[in-house]
Amino acid sequence: MTDQGPVYKRVLLKLSGEALLGDQEYGVDPAVLSRIARELRDISAMGVEVAVVIGGGNIFRGAGLAEAGMDRVTADHIGMLGTVINALAMQDSLEKLGVFCRVMSALKINEVCEDYIRRRAVRHLEKGRVVIFAAGTGNPFFTTDSAASLRAIEIGADIMIKGTKVNGVFDADPVNNPSAQRYERVTYDQVFAKNLGVMDATAIVMCRDNHIPLQVFNLNNDGDLTRLIRGEQIGTIVERGEP
Ligand code: UDP
Repeated sequence: MTDQGPVYKRVLLKLSGEALLGDQEYGVDPAVLSRIARELRDISAMGVEVAVVIGGGNIFRGAGLAEAGMDRVTADHIGMLGTVINALAMQDSLEKLGVFCRVMSALKINEVCEDYIRRRAVRHLEKGRVVIFAAGTGNPFFTTDSAASLRAIEIGADIMIKGTKVNGVFDADPVNNPSAQRYERVTYDQVFAKNLGVMDATAIVMCRDNHIPLQVFNLNNDGDLTRLIRGEQIGTIVERGEP
């Protein structure tokens, strides 16, 4: 299977901020960053156009700060700035590997990265640059999962891929429930009906209504991203059901 080419032309990968934690409780583990960067380099070298949305949960989550008493909008601004920090760290790791990369932010921070402009983002992708979308949607009260759905639709990605800590979508939390069963395939409507913890409702509806499939896989399994890009059945695919 190793000489099998990619089955996708353009993908959007969603990485949670927590994925960058490694064994730490806060911040970014450089070893984890480099490992993910190598995987991104490998799929980019296969000729796939790679866009990435990074979360910020390893730094600040707006809802958590608001619970502690902060104004929610300010808290979400802080959360979005956290995603910019992660995006810059990932850009650095990619550039160390010789990968051309651009960070595009939904909030204007021109001194450190480009503004998000859809046509420019698509041009970067066509030129083979990895594009990292930072600052979520640029609006409070959203998540980076919703930002990832939005960007995937805007850039015309073939698929959205969500890297998590577990091997896909399960019928119960696999961390606390060893008998939890993994789905190979599930529809967006089943995700709602069974209340499966895949993404927030806004993100699910965006993907469902705009016909974007979602593949959920374990980011800690080395090489799974590459195998998935070659079309191997890895993790769980979430799709629209038959009409
Ligand atoms: N955020 C926001 N608007 C967005 C995306 C993110 O306000 O469009 C803020 C929000 O406070 C969120 C934080 O950024 O808690 C970090 O994003 P998220 O929690 O989605 O990160 P992840 O869980 O993927 O690490």
